[in-house]
Amino acid sequence: MKKVIVIGGGASGLMAAIAAARQGAKVTLLEKNKQTGKKILVTGNGRCNFTNRDQDLSKYRSDHPELVKQALDAFSMSQTVDFFEELGLLVKDRNGYLYPNSGQAASVAELLRLEAQRLQIKMSCNTEVLVIEKENGIFQVKTDGWVYEGDVVILACGSKAAPETGSTGDGYRFAEHFGHTVIIPLPALTGVHAAEKDCAKLAGVRQDAKVTLFVNGEKCTEDEGEVQFTAYGLSGIPVFQISRYASRALEAGKTCEIFLDLCPVYTVEWIENILRDKQTFTGNRSGTDVLLGMFPEKLSQVLLERAGVSLKKKGKEWSDKEIHRLAVQIKQFGFSVTKCRGYEQAQICTGGIPLDELKGISMESKKIPGLYLAGELLDVDGACGGYNLQWAWTSGYLAGKSAAKTEK
Ligand SMILES: Cc1cc2nc3c(=O)[nH]c(=O)nc-3n(C[C@H](O)[C@H](O)[C@H](O)COP(=O)(O)OP(=O)(O)OC[C@H]3O[C@@H](n4cnc5c(N)ncnc54)[C@H](O)[C@@H]3O)c2cc1C
Repeated sequence: MKKVIVIGGGASGLMAAIAAARQGAKVTLLEKNKQTGKKILVTGNGRCNFTNRDQDLSKYRSDHPELVKQALDAFSMSQTVDFFEELGLLVKDRNGYLYPNSGQAASVAELLRLEAQRLQIKMSCNTEVLVIEKENGIFQVKTDGWVYEGDVVILACGSKAAPETGSTGDGYRFAEHFGHTVIIPLPALTGVHAAEKDCAKLAGVRQDAKVTLFVNGEKCTEDEGEVQFTAYGLSGIPVFQISRYASRALEAGKTCEIFLDLCPVYTVEWIENILRDKQTFTGNRSGTDVLLGMFPEKLSQVLLERAGVSLKKKGKEWSDKEIHRLAVQIKQFGFSVTKCRGYEQAQICTGGIPLDELKGISMESKKIPGLYLAGELLDVDGACGGYNLQWAWTSGYLAGKSAAKTEK
């Protein structure tokens, strides 16, 4: 019977262990936390957005999108749903974003644990892997006080994001030890710091906006949704979505600017007309009161300041040039990104082990026969919306299934 050792008991490791055991392998899973699935518990604000009905490939970013596609074709979103339904999960569909009906991420982690238990997978928690060697065709997995031996090893140690959940980057070290390269892992799905001092004045404001990232002055990507202003800069889902591009650009020494369009449905001219109408009807009020109903007061104040419109002026005193400048600010509210938030505040990392260092979608290393890799450790990062867990399920399943079938 094939002896498979899985390192890491997160989403991809649990899936890999289950897939291998279902193929008849003798599986041992080593997890350094006191329980498996710690990161699963915090996903989707504790509700676990475990996949998404929209599987457009643009949701997955990698240097090798063709391999991501092959993998997702081999273990798809609908196979993932079937898998979890067989374990007992009732799926709740929120506009295509799929959650457990319980509303509890813990039920996903627990269903995986129960399945692993049913399959008699040996799960060893509080077990940190320190070193992995391969000698005479056998893997030696060394922990403090014990050496586990296996025919194959599946690395499923995650990235460096949210290290309090256990993913502290050990997987990169193990992979490098076996000759793999690592595309430097950088924080993604996170907020960004901005240079503008007026961010502090905006802290706490939430406003829907179209968010566009410019790299070295050229449009890179955009997203739309609720932006959260914070003392350090910008946060919220649309900012998370573009953060992986900002992380990579800043790492390469490029400049990053974000422009918020606070009224995407209107042109500058339309906004000028709206502001002129407001002048006519409510022009006796202060500038921020004229903008009441358009934006929260703190935001109106900063918009007026940036447009160079004195806060002491009443609306009816605004000149045509001031109205134009204000309309432009509303359409192009700009921020210079100085850095992205750190690994501690990031949901995932962009970067990791390049997919072309694997033997196709078997997930087996081209460098070391019998070594498999899965999950966020690999160079695939998904958009917010269930795509990172889908990658963990897909890559974990494929790694586990092929690991169990490896020729000795
Ligand atoms: C706050 C937050 C919310 C998120 N929400 C969502 C969401 O709703 N939907 C979605 O799709 N994605 C979400 N994600 C991302 C998703 O959780 C991850 O992409 C996914 O869990 C990665 O799975 P993994 O198995 O690759 O890594 P991990 O889940 O990080 O698992 C790696 C495991 O390996 C263990 N380990 C590491 N080193 C060692 C070692 N040396 N020895 C033994 N064990 C080790 C770790 O303790 C850990 O348990 C979220 C992430 C965060 C942080």
